[in-house]
Amino acid sequence: MSEPKPVIQKVRGMQDFLPNDSEFVSAIEANARKTFSFYDFKEIRIPVLESSSLFKRAIGETTDIVEKEMFSLTDRGERELCMRPEGTAGVVRSYIENNLGVPQNQKQFDKLFYVGPMFRAERPQAGRYREFNQIGAEYFGDASPSADVEVIKLALSILGRNRIEKPVLKLNSIGCSNCRPGFQKKLIEYLNQKSGDLCKDCQRRMAKNPLRVLDCKTDAGALNDAPKSIDNLCAECRRHHQEVEGELRWARIEPTIDHRLVRGLDYYNRTVFEFYAPNKSGSQDALGAGGRYDYLVEMLGGRATPAVGFAIGLERVMNLMKEMGREPESMEVKRIGTYVAWLGLDTRKPAFQLVEKLRDAGIPSTMSLDEKKLDAQMKAAGRRGMRYCVIIGEDEIKKNKLNLKDLRSGAQMEISDNNLIDHIRSADEQPA
Ligand code: AMP
Repeated sequence: MSEPKPVIQKVRGMQDFLPNDSEFVSAIEANARKTFSFYDFKEIRIPVLESSSLFKRAIGETTDIVEKEMFSLTDRGERELCMRPEGTAGVVRSYIENNLGVPQNQKQFDKLFYVGPMFRAERPQAGRYREFNQIGAEYFGDASPSADVEVIKLALSILGRNRIEKPVLKLNSIGCSNCRPGFQKKLIEYLNQKSGDLCKDCQRRMAKNPLRVLDCKTDAGALNDAPKSIDNLCAECRRHHQEVEGELRWARIEPTIDHRLVRGLDYYNRTVFEFYAPNKSGSQDALGAGGRYDYLVEMLGGRATPAVGFAIGLERVMNLMKEMGREPESMEVKRIGTYVAWLGLDTRKPAFQLVEKLRDAGIPSTMSLDEKKLDAQMKAAGRRGMRYCVIIGEDEIKKNKLNLKDLRSGAQMEISDNNLIDHIRSADEQPA
């Protein structure tokens, strides 16, 4: 015998989704896709690997993501590449590169969504991973407050369809290139007075990116009476913000105005927002976030195009659902999973055919491929999380009946082949 080989482990912060979790996130994704189609958003798939310069330009050189969290590499042609840390920059790159914004294409490609993994070299901890998945949407070409409200409603609807009803919506406006410099000046004056109370990171940020100081969790105490961006908006931005609030209320959505909400990325203007589970507000508790980014398309070389979008963290949604003891809708079909047990080689073919019939009827079904004792088959059904076990023995074949056991209640009954599917389906409507 040769020496056992050393085991190779996954890279720190990367994730394996084993079958249960995999199914859970796929169901969340499926619900999101359904919601996107109701809102007429179309899917775009973009590469994981992009040029580092894309994120440097889009997200900003002085953000945490670009400064310290990018998974970067140099390829054999000495090109600097990076595993995408977020989706918006890539979608905008693709939007420009594929001419999606030209008048003949615009209406066809103005509402896009993506689902996929993102990579950030953050310190891994609960709810914070180095590889995580986002469900995101981008709405191009509409500068109106209604577009902001449309994407907020869409995000809430995705969360709602995944049984996270009424999350907290935090909202703020960070102004535009007209009014933000004035606000920034006031903020710097304030921060200069407080600089002794600020953490090292913020003292550094103050000079390069003062808005980000507002985001700091450590310095919350020192920032209580910091100037508010909302008090320093130009007339246009103020009107925009008021209309967003007003239209949200039409949709019976009550935002919580958060003056410290500025978002970590440079590309936002005007409306910024975040979603939290009720009663949770830690930075690992954000379910999703987004905002308006009217300058980004132009910054990345396209024609000036207003845009607004969001990204929801898939793992955060899953973790919260599990905490609340909820399952995504489309997983429930599993509750009627049916194992077909067979006894004696003559019953193998009818069992085989029944499994096919159940599957064709949309009922998850499986069987043992080799001959096993009934006991072992029942155990396998239980371990597979099946709701029912159908037993086919020679007796059943003679009588033209099947034996159906409800593994949840333990009840057993004889049933004719013709009634089996309706009976199993009707169990789906009974409470769990
Ligand atoms: P951001 O792109 O930073 O605005 O993040 C949008 C959403 O993605 C957050 O609200 C989280 O739900 C999720 N998210 C961001 N970073 C991580 C991470 N490191 N691990 C897990 N989820 C994350």
